[in-house]
Amino acid sequence: HDAKASTRGLRVFDPSLTAEDPRRLALVTELRTAVHEGQLEVHVQPQAEVLTGRVVSVEALVRWTHPQLGRVGPDEFIPVAERSGLIGPLTTLVLDRSLAAVAAWRAAGTDLSVAVNLSTRSLHDTDLVDEVARLLRRHDVPSDRLTLEVTEGSVMADPARTIAVLHQLRDLGCRLSVDDFGTGYSSLSYLKRLPVQEVKIDQSFVTGLRSGGEDVAIVRAIVDLGRHLGLAVVAEGVEDQETWDLLADTGCDLVQGWHLGRPMPTADLPGWLGDRARSTPARPLRAV
Ligand code: C2E
Ligand code: MG
Ligand code: MG
Ligand code: MG
Repeated sequence: HDAKASTRGLRVFDPSLTAEDPRRLALVTELRTAVHEGQLEVHVQPQAEVLTGRVVSVEALVRWTHPQLGRVGPDEFIPVAERSGLIGPLTTLVLDRSLAAVAAWRAAGTDLSVAVNLSTRSLHDTDLVDEVARLLRRHDVPSDRLTLEVTEGSVMADPARTIAVLHQLRDLGCRLSVDDFGTGYSSLSYLKRLPVQEVKIDQSFVTGLRSGGEDVAIVRAIVDLGRHLGLAVVAEGVEDQETWDLLADTGCDLVQGWHLGRPMPTADLPGWLGDRARSTPARPLRAV
C-alpha cells in the first residue's frame, strides 16, 4: 500500500477539527504514525451458536497501543480516523489482517468466518468494494467467510449511496450485518431495503435481560423480527450463563461476549479453541 497516497486526505483542511480538544488534535498526528508504523493490532472475539456453544465465527476489533498514551479505545480513535482521512488505510489494515488470520486458520483445518466493522466514511469510499475484492483474492478466502458490519446510523447518513455499496459487497458474496441494532433512528422499512443477512442486538438490551422488564420484550421483538425476515440474529455483550440461557429461550442464533471469550490477538485463537474443546463438555441442547 502506498503510504503517501493513503494519507493524502490529511492535506484537506477540516475546520471541524480545530474546534476540538487538544487530545483529539494530538490523536490525529499520533494515529497517522500508528497506522503506518505498526501500532495497530487486530484482536478477534469468538461468536458461538447459542444452542450448541460451537464457535463458528469471530469479530475483528482494532486495538491501538500508543507508546506513551497506552491503550486508546476504538470508540475514541475511530471517530478521529473518520475525520482525518485515516479510516481508509485503517479499514484496509483490519481487513487484511482479518483475512490473513482466516486463511491461516483454514490452512490448519479450522473453518471460521470473520466479521469486520465498517464505519460511515468507509461506506462512502468508492475504493472500498475493490479493496475488499482484492483482499479476498489475495488471501484466497471465500467471500462468504467475510461479514461486514454496518450500523443503522452509517446507513442513514446517506441511504441511497450506502445501499448501493452494500449491494456491491453483497454481489461479491460477502455477508452483511446490522450492528448495534435497535439503537439507531432508522425505520424498520429500511431494514427491509437493506441486503443484509444478520442483525446484532445491541449489548445495552442484552445486558438488561437478567433483570427482566423492557429489555426482555425488546430482545424478543428483535429476534422475532429477524426470524420473520430470514435474518440470523446475534446477541453481543453476553457476560454470564444466565443471559446465554435466556437468549437460547428467545431463539437467537449466535452469542458473543465475555462469557464466551474476550477479544484476543489472532495468534491466540487456535490455542483458545483447543483449551475450550478440552475443558468444556459439549453443551447439552436446551429445549426451546
Ligand atoms: P462493536 O462493533 O459493537 O463491538 C462490540 C464492542 O463490545 C467491542 O468493544 C467489544 O470489545 C465489546 N464487548 C464484547 N463483549 C462484551 C461484553 O460481554 N461486555 C462488554 N461490556 N463489552 C463487550 P471495542 O473493541 O472497544 O469496540 C468498540 C467499537 O469500536 C465497536 O463496537 C465498533 O463500533 C468500533 N470498532 C472496533 N474495531 C473497529 C474497526 O476495526 N473498524 C471500525 N470502523 N470500527 C471498529
Ligand atoms: Mg461490531
Ligand atoms: Mg455492536
Ligand atoms: Mg458498538
